[in-house]
Amino acid sequence: MSQPILLPSFKGRRVAVMGLARSGLAAARVLAASGAEVLAWDDGAGGQKAAEAAGIPLTNLHEADLSGVAALVLSPGIPHTFPAPHPVAARAKAAGVPIIGDVELLRLAQPDAAYVGITGTNGKSTTTALTGHILAHAGRTLAVGGNLGIPVLTFPALGAPNNPRGDVYVLEMSSYQLELTPSLGFDAAVLLNITPDHLDRHGGMDGYIAAKRLIFQPGARDPSKPPAVAILGVDEPNTAAMADSLESEEGRKVIRISSERAVPGGVHAADGVLVDDTEGQAWTVVDLRQCAALPGRHNWQNACAAYAATRAVGVPPEVIAEAMRTFPGLVHRQQTIATLDGIRFVNDSKATNADAASKALGCYEDMYWIVGGKAKEGGLSGLEPFMGRVRHAFLIGEATEEFAPWLEGKVSYGRYGTLDQAVPAAYALAKQAGGGTVLLSPACASFDQYPNFEVRGDAFVRIVRQLADQLEDGKDGAS
Ligand code: ADP
Repeated sequence: MSQPILLPSFKGRRVAVMGLARSGLAAARVLAASGAEVLAWDDGAGGQKAAEAAGIPLTNLHEADLSGVAALVLSPGIPHTFPAPHPVAARAKAAGVPIIGDVELLRLAQPDAAYVGITGTNGKSTTTALTGHILAHAGRTLAVGGNLGIPVLTFPALGAPNNPRGDVYVLEMSSYQLELTPSLGFDAAVLLNITPDHLDRHGGMDGYIAAKRLIFQPGARDPSKPPAVAILGVDEPNTAAMADSLESEEGRKVIRISSERAVPGGVHAADGVLVDDTEGQAWTVVDLRQCAALPGRHNWQNACAAYAATRAVGVPPEVIAEAMRTFPGLVHRQQTIATLDGIRFVNDSKATNADAASKALGCYEDMYWIVGGKAKEGGLSGLEPFMGRVRHAFLIGEATEEFAPWLEGKVSYGRYGTLDQAVPAAYALAKQAGGGTVLLSPACASFDQYPNFEVRGDAFVRIVRQLADQLEDGKDGAS
């Protein structure tokens, strides 16, 4: 039976936990179960209620005496440097209390496990899930989480000394989390790409790049272990320069990956075929165009990264190739839900801005595109090159009147209000035309009609299922 994580080194010590969403609550629980005195606080009523429900007493960290506190465990959503430190983080700094995150606690509790870390501006969740899928397919014991989904302190304890079963923690790391994890030296670390994002939290682009580079820090990694493997997407100048500079450091192997061109000594998929050139001779591992859940050049980058990371922790290439073909994909990210009458239905509800939507729009022809919601700054700009592939655009939500003039003259469109109207209309039009792809890739936040993009995607899936049921009923009737 798997054991829960415990932190015996914190027994009898005072530890502050700030931010009581799921990961903060898990940290407070593990620390309390380990015999620590936990000072837990959340500024919001929701977090305070959740703590009460979980039986965790609250201590106002804006006022509490922080002297002698061993650490402040800060939720990664709370700023500790830019744009300005949260007052509790500032108090901790003034009192000389180290500020850490829940992943740091995992590393302290489980120093002997193998760690794979994944970061980047885009593609983290897909690459993390794919890496987990490959390791599971290879029969390895693992836990997958971090920024993606499951709080790491709810993981089972995997790190048996000497790691005989090859247990692996696969962690999606945001740049915020990296800054709060000083001890963790990943055995294999991936940086997919860096484009401007969250710059306010890092004091500009240089700060953001420096935060991302932390994924490659040695931390307290045992120097007698084989060299850590640094895997970098080199399709942009920032990451390419970082690969060069890392290579000059000792005790590390650098693997460059590209979805755009051949990289000598690296892993690439320029034509949709994954090629491994890391061992002196380039050879073809798998045709990614046959991996249904990895469409598009952006996913080829994710596949190259997951390949290099799982090779680094000992998975044979043929097992990786097989796993890529059976990868089910991540929900709400270009997920093919059904094919009805030869018409494919794709749920890409996670595409909450134009850049993310451009990835899906680049993958299909003859699209019936459902777009709209709560518009982001910049609207649909940048999507002009894809309009030739769109047969009709179905506007929904608050953005309708902002987007209609943009679509004018580029593509035929109509106003449909809600998904309930748009999906059957898109199906009917595609059926008339004899095929195509009905794509929900809204390029907008969901908050005008839904609590989040997941609920929006689930609504799309439910409507598609209803259409499928109607089709089935129709067939039964005809036979
Ligand atoms: P993240 O966890 O970094 O937000 P996801 O894997 O959830 O990334 O993908 C979110 C969206 O970003 C996808 O729907 C797709 O449009 C786009 N995307 C995925 N992988 C990449 C990549 N490697 N490069 C650029 N964009 C990507």
